[in-house]
Amino acid sequence: MIINKELLRENAAILGTELSGEMLEKFDMLANLLIETNKSMNLTAIKEPDDIVVKHFADSLSLYSAIVPENGAKVLDLGTGAGFPGIPLLIARPDLDLTMLDSTAKKLKYVADTVEALGLRAEVFHTRAEDAGKNPLYREKYDIVCSRAVAALNILSEYCLPFVKVGGTFVAMKSAKADEEIACAKQAIRLLGGEIIEKKTFFLSDGGERTLIIIKKISQTSPKYPRPSAQISKKPL
Ligand code: SAH
Repeated sequence: MIINKELLRENAAILGTELSGEMLEKFDMLANLLIETNKSMNLTAIKEPDDIVVKHFADSLSLYSAIVPENGAKVLDLGTGAGFPGIPLLIARPDLDLTMLDSTAKKLKYVADTVEALGLRAEVFHTRAEDAGKNPLYREKYDIVCSRAVAALNILSEYCLPFVKVGGTFVAMKSAKADEEIACAKQAIRLLGGEIIEKKTFFLSDGGERTLIIIKKISQTSPKYPRPSAQISKKPL
């Protein structure tokens, strides 16, 4: 066993998720695969098992303190990287219909292999968010879209909100300085058909500050959005 399961169990419980013995086994396998693969591939800067438990696993599961998905809900993790928050969310809720999207193929191959090794099922999608957001198979199809450490909130909203169904939820998982990002993104969120309904700030057990910004999709996103990549970065909403 590589991780301190009690540390994970406690941290998850504080954030409102009870993990079974089988789930803790899967998290242990996940930590093993992450540490092993990280030796030959740049997946994460977080390498110590206790740090992986708190900064990757518990932090990912914190989403469930903001929103409890319905059984079989369609969930998108946008910019999943090495599978965060997506893989932990799926271990705790294997019923989810989860898509993990990223523009980096190498990381996604690791994510797909890992999901299979854990005996779980998810779709991995190699694309840029700006391209997939225009695809009718994916646009406005998700109950929940979540994203961690991908872009500032105004840019992130243009990536994420097009995927959310009207009535669905976008959760931006942020660290410190969330208030500044919110101030700068309010107008973008409105333009894209969203509305901030709640902001939840909490601390991980290592003292790290986190904020979940919960945005409801209240109307369809105009077909103008998402704009091409160059425009999004040059002229963020
Ligand atoms: N969510 C993970 C990874 C964060 S790193 C975590 O919190 O650990 C940011 C990831 O977002 C990278 O893997 C990068 O490839 C991806 N990304 C950035 N911009 C993107 C875009 N426009 N479309 C798809 N993926 C993107």
